[in-house]
Amino acid sequence: MASAANAPRAFVTGWPVSHSLSPALHTYWLHHHGLAGSYELQPVKPEEFANFLRSFPKKGFVGGNVTIPHKEVAFAGLDALDPTAKALGAVNTLWLEGDKIVGGNTDAYGFTCNLDDQVPEWRNGKTAIILGAGGASRAVIHAIQTAGFRSIHVLNRTVERAQNLVSQFGEPCAAHPLDAFDALAGEADLLVNATSLGMGDDGTLPVSLSTLGSGTIVTDIIYTPLETAMLHQARERGLPTADGLGMLLHQAVPGFEKWFGHRPEVTQELRNHILQVIAAERDTS
Ligand code: NAP
Repeated sequence: MASAANAPRAFVTGWPVSHSLSPALHTYWLHHHGLAGSYELQPVKPEEFANFLRSFPKKGFVGGNVTIPHKEVAFAGLDALDPTAKALGAVNTLWLEGDKIVGGNTDAYGFTCNLDDQVPEWRNGKTAIILGAGGASRAVIHAIQTAGFRSIHVLNRTVERAQNLVSQFGEPCAAHPLDAFDALAGEADLLVNATSLGMGDDGTLPVSLSTLGSGTIVTDIIYTPLETAMLHQARERGLPTADGLGMLLHQAVPGFEKWFGHRPEVTQELRNHILQVIAAERDTS
């Protein structure tokens, strides 16, 4: 990779942030495209984040990614926001436009591109069920609403949280408890797990898939493991599926292009590289 003293520097900030796969992802692209630049971990405590947000340009950064717990704080502290960040109330990507610090949100874009890659027929769907009502669910609802679904059921353990989310999105969303799943499942064209159930060694399923119709597309935004218990059960039933790794990879594309001036691609080689990084981290933890 070429190097230059004034090469662009980008970051990922969160607290904690050491587990982030973003440095491996962006460094792969920098090497792959022979670009000068760096992408660095910036662990920032919540009480120091507001200061970091205003001062990162002086530290020599051209922008970066924002992750938990800073996404909502970043939303409130910027000079300008892109339309998706405004719709979601959270920011995951920062860049500079002149002396302005601008924030965007690429999670919904990542979700959409991943389904377009793996199950392009998802766009024919009309009814979706989303499990979960946390930060990630917000991006998923936005993506599915933007794709033109006519009915979006948001099911959550804490139904008040789903009701709150749905009230922000309005038609065509409805909130339900998780035990409404069996009654709704038959009409779903798309099922999304946006809960944190199923991560790592947790083989728990939020719901049983036996009541889904025979053509329902099933996707899980969790990508460790790549085949979650939910995707495993869907494949056993012969349903079309999409894993969650592509969402992570695609959401990184717009930021890389803004910071380093080149639009990278999500390829099988990149997927394999990140899967190796995940496996190596699992072996050392
Ligand atoms: P979050 O804000 O903490 O929300 C967690 C959600 O999971 C809530 O709806 C919560 O329900 C539900 N949940 C947790 N434990 C549960 C249980 N035992 N039973 C039923 N429901 C349970 O998290 P998030 O930021 O939305 O992230 C959710 C998942 O998406 C995480 O695993 C994250 O790694 C993944 N993610 C992936 C990508 C990607 O690029 N692929 C991007 C973002 C997030 P309550 O409201 O009732 O607590």
